[in-house]
Amino acid sequence: MTNLTPIMEKTHAWATGYAQRKGYKLNPDQEMVQLVVEGLSRNREELGRQYCPCRIVSGNVEQDRKIICPCVYHHDEIKNNGSCHCSLFFKQ
Ligand code: SF4
Repeated sequence: MTNLTPIMEKTHAWATGYAQRKGYKLNPDQEMVQLVVEGLSRNREELGRQYCPCRIVSGNVEQDRKIICPCVYHHDEIKNNGSCHCSLFFKQ
């Protein structure tokens, strides 16, 4: 991971801690992690919430709540596919 802004560092630290707490791991591909962390951080800065960068933000607050990372879908996605839709969190 290179050239992380402070907000990206914070997001990365959060994702690392979250993965550990839940028994997941981050994608071993650091470049992919960096891309997702960048997208999450951008959404946090520009939209005020850490929306999933791999899904469409609709503008409907209720609907969009579901895609604030960690989204409501990720446990099932990791269980069924080995990783979440963005390939940020992986099965151990
Ligand atoms: S798919 Fe879900 S858990 Fe994975 S990065 Fe996007 S919001 Fe986060």
